[in-house]
Amino acid sequence: MSVLQALQTRAAPFVALRHDLHRHPELGLKEFRTSELLAQQLQSWGYTVTRGLATTGLVAQLRRGTGSKRLGLRADMDALPIHEASDLPHCSVYAGVMHACGHDGHTAMLMAAAQYIAQEVEFSGTLNLIFQPAEEHPGGAKIMIEEGLFERFPCDAIFAAHNMPGIPAGRLVFIEGPAMASSDDVTITLTGVGGHGAMPHRAQDPIVAAAAIVMTLQTIVSRNVDPQHTAVITVGSLVAGKANNVIPASARLELSVRSLDREVRDLLQERITSLVTAQAQSLGVLAHIDYKRDYPVLVNTPAETELARQVGTELLGAERVTRQGRPLTGSEDFAFMLEHCPGSYFMIGNGAGEGTGESAVAHACMVHNPGYDFNDDILPVGAAFWALLTQRYLKD
Ligand SMILES: [Zn+2]
Ligand SMILES: [Zn+2]
Repeated sequence: MSVLQALQTRAAPFVALRHDLHRHPELGLKEFRTSELLAQQLQSWGYTVTRGLATTGLVAQLRRGTGSKRLGLRADMDALPIHEASDLPHCSVYAGVMHACGHDGHTAMLMAAAQYIAQEVEFSGTLNLIFQPAEEHPGGAKIMIEEGLFERFPCDAIFAAHNMPGIPAGRLVFIEGPAMASSDDVTITLTGVGGHGAMPHRAQDPIVAAAAIVMTLQTIVSRNVDPQHTAVITVGSLVAGKANNVIPASARLELSVRSLDREVRDLLQERITSLVTAQAQSLGVLAHIDYKRDYPVLVNTPAETELARQVGTELLGAERVTRQGRPLTGSEDFAFMLEHCPGSYFMIGNGAGEGTGESAVAHACMVHNPGYDFNDDILPVGAAFWALLTQRYLKD
């Protein structure tokens, strides 16, 4: 029996686990029930379980043989503050919270693999299964790293997967190099001197300065960033003033800044900071810049991505594996882990809307939509991938 067939045969209890998690979704850093459930099962299969990293995160470790290599596989566990709009039997029982990104499926996939690996897979080395909280917000990967994840559980390579609606069920998509964008939030507060709208010479107008800054920021992408690179600077909010005859004392701008390259990301921060400061000064107002670096660029290392692609091809055949050149514009906190350890993050198709019936629609429905649902058919595919990867990576 192939690994895929074996995982298909064993899928039922993990589909049931997935439905249980879906019925009881928990927001980031509050995955107490989920974490408890996983820890008990992992321990019963012989894993050494360490709990409490980033509050609800856990690492399950299995060591075998004399091999020195250490492999990390990561699943995210958190749900979203969205009210589920479905009449599925496993619909969320909590109003306003749902597994709208399929992290229930990612967790169940890794659990199915965990049991199979412990009971059936021969390997030599150390396997670290990382169940991470708060992928959506505020970024549990970063917190786990700050709490010593890689010092306590060193990994030579680390992998993670995300389901993707719109792609045929079970198809694997690998992207080498930068695969997802960085996402930074910038808040600029301009302080001038308020006054009468009829006497602008007695005031320092932060609105004129804000307008000038919005226009000047456009020159960063057009004049400073290499045209072959990607960058986005969006001023999504500009708040100032309340009346037509009053010059306000302050103005506030909020920016979303994205890039697909670690150097471009640094360049954007440097240029935004110096342009805003200089522009404000030239117009006689003070600028305070709160530059919050959020999720970094997710960069898949070539060797690990190639290994994952080979494992995918061995498992499913070349026709169900895609090597994609173009990165995605979303962001993902697994990027923090890839800043510390080589590895790869890939997509697994959740279904392209083929077939009929409600579940088919839910699988093709985009993540973060209240009608979305993880496709249980891909659970054994993802689990079999983790089992085969473990076998291929952790060999003497
Ligand atoms: Zn999401
Ligand atoms: Zn997600």
